[in-house]
Amino acid sequence: MAAVAVARPPKLRSRPRLRALAAAPPEEIVDGVWVLRGGLLRTMNVYLVRDDERGGVLVFDAGEKGMATSIVAAAIPHGGISRVVLGHGDTDHRGAAPALRAYADVLCHPDAVEQAQGSGGRDYWRPKDLPLDVRLLHGFTHRYVWDGGPVHIDGTVREGDRVAGFEVIDLPGHAPGLIGLWRERDRVALVSDCFYMNDMHGRPQPPSVPLDAYNLDTAQARRSIRKLAELRPAIACPGHLGPLSGPDVTEQLEAAAAA
Ligand SMILES: [Zn+2]
Repeated sequence: MAAVAVARPPKLRSRPRLRALAAAPPEEIVDGVWVLRGGLLRTMNVYLVRDDERGGVLVFDAGEKGMATSIVAAAIPHGGISRVVLGHGDTDHRGAAPALRAYADVLCHPDAVEQAQGSGGRDYWRPKDLPLDVRLLHGFTHRYVWDGGPVHIDGTVREGDRVAGFEVIDLPGHAPGLIGLWRERDRVALVSDCFYMNDMHGRPQPPSVPLDAYNLDTAQARRSIRKLAELRPAIACPGHLGPLSGPDVTEQLEAAAAA
């Protein structure tokens, strides 16, 4: 990308009580990967990945904006934030990213740059297809709770790139340039919104295709879930709730793609 210097925001002043409201303490789910569950319903997942290449931890997805200080605080014992990689550019995945740019570069797939730096998905969403109560609730939360606004993207990653011991995989459909991180040695997949484990009210559900009203291309989203299933992950960690683990991860993903 063009090497244009874009000013960084100031570093955050952390307030422990607000941090505790914004997110639960990080949980280590597999070797060198922690999930930070944020938001009022604790449905917003941000992953910290031990980054032996750079030192510190890579942040995968940036959750909602109120999680920024929790993410910074969670990274400190591990040496701080090395880089931020967005799974895609939607409002609730870039939320804390503008604030985190005070600490590290923010990266995403080339096809996600326009949304990350722009509307955050609103260009192509079809909110009129949602039930009225959900449309009103989401309209409010996207604007006032989730979205931190456009974030400057410092660089890009694409399928086959290696970051922090993981390989970038393309899983588009829900959003343009949606990516996951895949680690072959223990079959761990971090997949952003490739599939959903919560419904439109935030309640838990089995793995499912993302809601059509929020998808760029639902048929492509199904193909990406099938592609993920073909990797036969031992554990698949989505952008909300989860993770999906156990003896039948592949079967559950195949069922989600076929439903
Ligand atoms: Zn999401």
